Amino acid sequence: MRHWKENIRKVAPYVPGEQPKGMDLVKLNTNENPYPPAPGVKQALKEMDYDPFRKYPDPTASDLVSALSQYYQVGEDEVFVGVGSDDVIAMAFLTFFNSELPILFPDVSYSFYKVWADLFQIPYETPVLQEDFSIRKEDYYKANGGIIFPNPNAPTGLFMPLEEIEELIAHNQNSVIIIDEAYIDFGGKSAMELTKKYENLLVVQTFSKSRSLAGIRIGYAIGHPDLIRAMNNVKYSYNSYTMNMPSLILGVEAVKDDKYFKECLDKIIKTREEAKVSLSKLGFIFPDSMTNFIFASHKERRAEDIYKALRENRIFVRYFNLPRLDNYLRITIGTEEEMRQLFAFLEVFLSN
Ligand SMILES: *Cc1c(COP(=O)(O)O)cnc(C)c1O
Repeated sequence: MRHWKENIRKVAPYVPGEQPKGMDLVKLNTNENPYPPAPGVKQALKEMDYDPFRKYPDPTASDLVSALSQYYQVGEDEVFVGVGSDDVIAMAFLTFFNSELPILFPDVSYSFYKVWADLFQIPYETPVLQEDFSIRKEDYYKANGGIIFPNPNAPTGLFMPLEEIEELIAHNQNSVIIIDEAYIDFGGKSAMELTKKYENLLVVQTFSKSRSLAGIRIGYAIGHPDLIRAMNNVKYSYNSYTMNMPSLILGVEAVKDDKYFKECLDKIIKTREEAKVSLSKLGFIFPDSMTNFIFASHKERRAEDIYKALRENRIFVRYFNLPRLDNYLRITIGTEEEMRQLFAFLEVFLSN
């Protein structure tokens, strides 16, 4: 009898997008930023002293918390930082979603939510997105143990206007609401200002997409001091030293250079708008994206076939073999040159 086997926690893990090895490929599959991190990040890396690495890092991550609090004009006690927003959201699930009532998130959204809910044994329900992939806020007007959704939503790219977000929050004053704003910098309007008005609102953002630092792993949450304090208590009950020394230093550098940040965003937004025109011309349809990706379906050709053909030509996009999503490609906005290569291939492929 192997009793220990019965006591193993069984989970179906989140499956991240592929990180193909090698040069000479066009990587448009995991929504990374095609531009390098801010020049100050490179400089800080060059000047970094390794001797302090003997010691533990600052458990409060105070330099980074302070940089973010100044940037967003909020108190330091309104900022929580973690190892990517995945870590921040996982901590938020542990901290806030402890009701017997189900938490709510859209059936089509970030697939990690379901994984965390299963891992932490949180009951959940997934209201179905409308035909056009928009969130119907009324679906969230019922007793719940918490609410989370990305805005703009992923993988659809659709942005929900702030007035609707506020209505949804106003109807839900008895549970914590998390807005996952991984893509907010690409043109949407953040709900951060609403954290002043609603103390049950937590806004989560990341350095992984708009700040070109996916590999460094920094995410953060902004919310009422009571929420942040509760999250820190859970963090210090789990792992005090989540943020390593280099990422604390590099994160601060990234926040400092607002000019570079805005320039990169402008370029990506411009490329995205051009990509919308090119995709339409090629017969694709897609929800209007406010992110650094486009979720597109072709009117005649199967998404899976296009995905495979692209892959054979070393162009990687994301394909989800899931109900409702399996005729779509999620295409990250790359550099102009990368998009040119994508469209050069698609033009030939789709005309055959
Ligand atoms: C990318 C992404 C995250 C996680 O990003 P981190 O790299 O962990 O900061 C969270 N939510 C959504 C919707 C994302 O697309």
